[in-house]
Formats: sequence, structure tokens, C-alpha cells
Amino acid sequence: MDTATHAIVGLIVGECAPKDVKHRRKIGLGFGMLPDLTNIIFVHPYLGWVAERTIPFAVPRDFLTHPEVLDHWTYHSWLLTHSLLFWALVFLPWWRRSKGHKVAALAYAAHLVADLPSHSGIYGLEPLYPIRFVFSGWFDAWLWPPAPIIASIVVALFSYVAVRRMRERILWPSERESTSPEPV
Ligand SMILES: [Zn+2]
Repeated sequence: MDTATHAIVGLIVGECAPKDVKHRRKIGLGFGMLPDLTNIIFVHPYLGWVAERTIPFAVPRDFLTHPEVLDHWTYHSWLLTHSLLFWALVFLPWWRRSKGHKVAALAYAAHLVADLPSHSGIYGLEPLYPIRFVFSGWFDAWLWPPAPIIASIVVALFSYVAVRRMRERILWPSERESTSPEPV
């Protein structure tokens, strides 16, 4: 799945959080994109260099022509940040700290859950990484040409608008208390 769609999914997680969580949308958006940071700073530049691209940044089909990337540490860094085991180790110890920590953990988890079905075959996620178990999803969103990617971003944006509207009516108990008039 493309990083923009992931960011919007994270934004939706932030929107759903109680309004007293400071910067809830920014936290959701940032942590929703975070797992792909390894992709942007390690995997794509390395593979772009291997594939001898003028600008060393791989395009999706480079993965198919250079499957040896599967064994490279850059790809393993991506597998690590997409591991549910890694998520549990990094985020669960902080779970009770604050609502902001919970938003961060849930936005990050939403990214991993969205990537599970959208990477198939040998390029499937390894949800228990470093324990080797490849989960083969159902389709390959990462190989999509621009049109379906734009469609995915548009659908995510409409979903965000819908959730934002719903949030005007569906409130957390803490929000109801703060808006209801004082009892006489
Ligand atoms: Zn990802």
C-alpha cells in the first residue's frame, strides 16, 4: 500500500481518538507512515543503485527483477519494522503511559494490518519477524500503477471525511462531560 494511503489511515485513527489527546491527528498521521521509513531511506535507494537507475531510487518492478534484495539487510530492516512482534516489543511497554502513546501504537498497527493482505508471495510480510514465517496476502498493492494508487488515496480521503463527520456525533464519555451544561 502506498505511503499516502497509510498516512490517511493513521489520520483516521487519530480522528477517532478522544479530543483531549494533544496532536492526535498528527500522531496518527506520523505513526501511520513510520513503518515505511526503512523502505524510503534503505530499501529503495539500495535497490535503485543495484538496478543502476540514474536516480538511485527503485521502482516497484525492480523488486521483481532483483529478488536477491530479499536477502539484503535493507529489506530485512523493512521486514523488521513491519513485524507484529517488533510492534509488540516497541509499543506495548508504553501502552499505559498516555492516550497519545495508545494512538501512536494503534496507528502503527493499522499500517501493518493494511500491509498484510496487500503483499503476496515471496514479498509477503513476515508478521513474526525475525521468526521466519511469510504471510502471503491476496493482492500486490505495491505493484499498482498510478491510477489505482490515486483511487486508493481518494477512497482513504473520503473515508476520513466520513469519520470526521461521524465524530461530530459519536463522542467519547470525556467529550460528553465537557460539553454538557453544568447541573443546577
Ligand atoms: Zn508498509
